[in-house]
Amino acid sequence: MTPLPWSRTALRSLRGVLCDIDDTLTTEGRLTAAAYRALERLHEAKLIVVPVTGRPAGWCDHIARFWPIDAVVGENGAFYFRYDHGARRMIRSYVQDDATRTRNRTRLQAIGVDVMRQVPGSAIAADQHYREADLAIDYCEDVTPLPAAEVQRIVAVLRSRGMTVKVSSIHVNAWFGEYDKLALTRQLMQEQFGIDLDDERERARFVFVGDSPNDEPMFRFFPHSAAVANIARFIDQLRHRPAHITQRASGAGFAELARQILGARLPPR
Ligand SMILES: [Mg+2]
Repeated sequence: MTPLPWSRTALRSLRGVLCDIDDTLTTEGRLTAAAYRALERLHEAKLIVVPVTGRPAGWCDHIARFWPIDAVVGENGAFYFRYDHGARRMIRSYVQDDATRTRNRTRLQAIGVDVMRQVPGSAIAADQHYREADLAIDYCEDVTPLPAAEVQRIVAVLRSRGMTVKVSSIHVNAWFGEYDKLALTRQLMQEQFGIDLDDERERARFVFVGDSPNDEPMFRFFPHSAAVANIARFIDQLRHRPAHITQRASGAGFAELARQILGARLPPR
């Protein structure tokens, strides 16, 4: 195991762990028991645990309600959901209001069809029906993986429509507006936990872990940023690299990081 580049003192004063889901928590499209247990152990250690993902609202509704976490940021920062177990109430906060999201949905569908026509082999992602705000083009999940040049063509078509575009390990996500994962994470922390993330940044009390270019704003922001080993396939595309890379890939890498964080927090023997 590669040692963490952070002091034991810093790890003992951590307040939370933020993580990407696809190919960070999951392994070849599945959530392993080890990765889920790692999430649960972080949560049991009273850390604020928040997945920050490109996955859709439909999935996030389930995640917020059922997983051992405190909240979830979805669709690359289009919203956060937090389930208040005490009040038995789902708290949903969106960047765009209902009318805007409804209006955009028809546009997104038409643009998706256009991308499929212009880049053969791409497809509107299978989870598009459960999305509230963005368009997801599949290049690697249910379709035969497309070469990098084709992925860049998808990006170009979407950008030409004036959209913000991010490439995850499986989809190209695009939306109207300027929001991103970091902006909504900042808002979530302020509104739901009374935490000023910029202030916490100085003290480096949050760890973020991801695996791909759409995690870059987070790698850039968090001094304690990490990636699982499979970041290797994207490393040349990153302008802002994570501070630490785990030895193992995907879910096993996440479990490795959680073990190291929790180990450092144990009282010294
Ligand atoms: Mg990912």
